[in-house]
Amino acid sequence: MQSKSKITQIIATKPTVKDSFGAISQPVYRNIAFEYPDSESIADAFQQKTNGYTYSRINNPTVFDFEQKMKAAYNAQYAMAFSSGMAAMSNLFMTLAYNGANIVSSPHLFGNSFSLLNSTLKEFGVEVRFVDTDNLNEIKQAIDDNTCAFFCELITNPHLEIANLPEISKILKQKSVPMVVDTTLIPWCGMQQKELGIDLEIVSSTKYLSGGSGTLGGVILDYDSFDWSKNRKLAPIVKTGIRSAFNHKLRTEIARNFGATITPDTAFAQGVGMETVELRYKAQSESAYILAKELLKHSCVVHVNYPKLDNYKYKELADEFFIGNPGAMLTFNLATKVDCFKFMDNLKIIRRSTNLFDSKSLIIHPESTIYGTLNADMKRLIGIDETLIRLSVGLENVEDLKNDIFQALELI
Ligand SMILES: *Cc1c(COP(=O)(O)O)cnc(C)c1O
Repeated sequence: MQSKSKITQIIATKPTVKDSFGAISQPVYRNIAFEYPDSESIADAFQQKTNGYTYSRINNPTVFDFEQKMKAAYNAQYAMAFSSGMAAMSNLFMTLAYNGANIVSSPHLFGNSFSLLNSTLKEFGVEVRFVDTDNLNEIKQAIDDNTCAFFCELITNPHLEIANLPEISKILKQKSVPMVVDTTLIPWCGMQQKELGIDLEIVSSTKYLSGGSGTLGGVILDYDSFDWSKNRKLAPIVKTGIRSAFNHKLRTEIARNFGATITPDTAFAQGVGMETVELRYKAQSESAYILAKELLKHSCVVHVNYPKLDNYKYKELADEFFIGNPGAMLTFNLATKVDCFKFMDNLKIIRRSTNLFDSKSLIIHPESTIYGTLNADMKRLIGIDETLIRLSVGLENVEDLKNDIFQALELI
């Protein structure tokens, strides 16, 4: 029976290989090496004539099982898991970029993603061209023959901006540039099944997927929607007759050489985490919306940003792209940085910490922490405001969270 509901599909998924003890989910295969009955069959496995496993940095049954689940959850053609979200991102850009290439990107990125593009890749001859994603003309102007990717986050953190992906996609299609989007902030169950134009997607599975922040991981999802004969680096692979040149290059060269492999234990834990994502996401997002509305009422709060509030700049796009309450992250401004620190120090339940979508509610002052080591010019480019507080709402009772926030606001 084919179930329409994704949560049932994910929970009902059987191990990809039938286990001799009847294990109900894919066992954790911690072994590195795999043995074959004869020389011919191990040669076939190494030459990829058969689907056999060879060495756990390259392929592993537990990791394969997790990747299959991710592929199904996102309706992607290929999924590859890595040891962290940053590992997924660096492997992705190492596959696409080359000396002389450029990436057209929003500057409003997760701190390390910004640094990967703006410092690490730059030293290898890859230029990053920062654009305002609200300005379609600016995007069009920034693209040239060496643009190997357009990149942004959906939704941006901590600005909570939404790029008009379907409109940007029209430009990228004309110019033959793949759209790469980091969707860590909204899991599959929060997205409308709608054509947004994403070709390659990055998810830090450390966040919603791991559940309770017990494991680090990252996944690249490939929708096999881009014609790679238009990419200078991948075109020669297309000529050999291989269909998804990106997936081929990533799997058989880049990922093997960088070796940022997800461990079988993590793949297992995140596969289990996936089963409860929908429930946790719904509960945490609902609490986030309730708290956003409560914060609006308090006189110490200057501004509240959550993609469902009436004053939200991208409300139309949010309603079009997302289902229900759009995520468990909200931001708000107090009058001064001193107020922000005082407020945060007064909290009893909400923890001062940087992760997102943990079961615990976590609060952070981005300007002094995540962006704390950047100079003033960089802070201006990234658009970081010193009166901004970011809250990731957890699974605690929402009344308890509200009371904690209000008692802390009263003390400033
Ligand atoms: C956390 C995060 C990352 C990096 O993921 P790690 O698993 O910590 O490497 C990338 N993008 C976004 C939007 C994130 O929140």
